[in-house]
Amino acid sequence: MKQRVVLLGPPASGKGTQASLLGATFGIPHTSTGEMLRRERAAGTSLGIEADTYTRQGFLFPDHLALTVVEQWVDDRERFLLDGFPRTLSQAQAFDRMLLDRARPLDVVYLLALSDAEVRRRMLGRLTCESCGAVYNSEFHKITADSPCPKCTGHLARRSDDTEEALDHRLSQYHELTTPVATYYRDLGLLKTIDVSPGRDEVFKTLYADMREAA
Ligand code: AMP
Repeated sequence: MKQRVVLLGPPASGKGTQASLLGATFGIPHTSTGEMLRRERAAGTSLGIEADTYTRQGFLFPDHLALTVVEQWVDDRERFLLDGFPRTLSQAQAFDRMLLDRARPLDVVYLLALSDAEVRRRMLGRLTCESCGAVYNSEFHKITADSPCPKCTGHLARRSDDTEEALDHRLSQYHELTTPVATYYRDLGLLKTIDVSPGRDEVFKTLYADMREAA
């Protein structure tokens, strides 16, 4: 079974959803750098405040912020699922050194592939619960921002970076900065590309079957 996994992909490709499903199924701790920094922001820490100045405009936050939170989180974990990290080549290289120091190499990197047109469609319909963090799609789940969260009845809202303007930046940053990360892992023989257009359940089946196999 694979134990140390990275999920890469454009915004709204379902990295977070698949990471939580896989984490719950295999009992592997998972996190995302975006979520960690949103929590830091909510707690009012300087890390979170610095990150927010970039993310609200759709820009990646500086590498040192991502590396600080990941290093603390990975620390002595034997198994992990990371979503949305690394997002730049220098993050990937620093992460490799971090894992090498701990003698815990990555087992696999899944690239969740989705066209830009589909990314736009999904992102502009995305709603997040302000209380429990659950993520919905207004079309798929047939809900609006006025509906209560189906899980906890909390308030649903669009993320501050799910706007048309921020989306343009997020997509161009993805192509410019994160595509080289996929190439890097492809060259290391770790990358597996999964077409996510068939939808959440199909993608989960594919990932589940692959995760069960030996690294
Ligand atoms: P996410 O929740 O993964 O969609 O991330 C939200 C935003 O946080 C992204 O659009 C980026 O601006 C920023 N972000 C998340 N992870 C990273 C990272 N590893 N490096 C730089 N910026 C990141």
